[in-house]
Amino acid sequence: MLAFRVLSKGSGNARRLVVSAAAKVNLALEVLSRRADGYHEIATVMHAVDLSDRLVLEEADALEVRTTAPGVPTDERNLAHRAAAALRKAAGVDRGVRITLDKRIPVAAGLGGGSTDAAAVLVGLNRLWGLRWPAAQLDEVAVELGMDVPFFLRGGAALATGRGERLAALGGAVLALVLVNPRFPVSTAEMYGHLTPAMYSDGARAQAVARALRGRGVNRLAACLYNGMEATARAAYPQIGQMQAALVAAGALGAAMSGSGPTVFGLARSLEQARQIQRRVGRARWECWAVRTLRGPAIRIRTNGAG
Ligand code: ATP
Repeated sequence: MLAFRVLSKGSGNARRLVVSAAAKVNLALEVLSRRADGYHEIATVMHAVDLSDRLVLEEADALEVRTTAPGVPTDERNLAHRAAAALRKAAGVDRGVRITLDKRIPVAAGLGGGSTDAAAVLVGLNRLWGLRWPAAQLDEVAVELGMDVPFFLRGGAALATGRGERLAALGGAVLALVLVNPRFPVSTAEMYGHLTPAMYSDGARAQAVARALRGRGVNRLAACLYNGMEATARAAYPQIGQMQAALVAAGALGAAMSGSGPTVFGLARSLEQARQIQRRVGRARWECWAVRTLRGPAIRIRTNGAG
């Protein structure tokens, strides 16, 4: 079932929507193999976290994206733009939208920022354009935009396999995390380019993280956080190892890189402890957030009205 929450009710013919789009972390990320089509088979446990971009969608004649975020294109290269164009084509509608994108999730950071924006546009336009598409239909458009996009349509936690698009929902308690970003981007394509068969593994670590998440034992979970790209990323960008060490020295139970980096996250016992760790690790050169995992939707329609 597609899960998104309307926090303030409004008319079905909204002309303007405000949508929040949450980031994710990878509690485990394994690369299993390289396929003949060039994609990699992966096994990953993703969890939505409460660090979110904000998108305003307004009816317009054409498709338009506005943002002041550095390093984020506003043309067809923007995933929010591509999501709107793909949905318009798939639905056969002749409608436009002006998307104003307030980026709070760091860009090219391993936190899925572009993918969650794309999911937010699909959910928002489904409402704004009055399409009433069911989840399965939105999924078909989502997967064409990126392997993480179907995850963001659901939120919560999931074990993802295949190219990342096959999802099994996971439950578990709300976790407190500290995210640390070194204020430079790392390209996902570059990191996948560094992969060699020596870094491949069999998926057992992602299964172990999925079990630990269900078991609710935070120490056990901390012990099995894993990212198969981390060693290469640390070699290329030593700050990644330094951020992990700083998190553990400040009291995190365990720390790992998210996605293809460079953001790392540490697991804390509580949000209060996460804030303490954030204060200790947060230095001028690193950006730091204390966040909670989201058990509910990653995409939320915040307001709905003529505004
Ligand atoms: P992932 O974790 O899915 O690999 P990421 O978080 O590392 O992704 P993004 O923040 O999605 O990476 O950005 C990757 C690139 O995509 C950026 O270099 C940026 O130029 C481009 N991009 C396109 N659309 C967006 C968007 N809406 N937000 C951020 N970046 C975007």
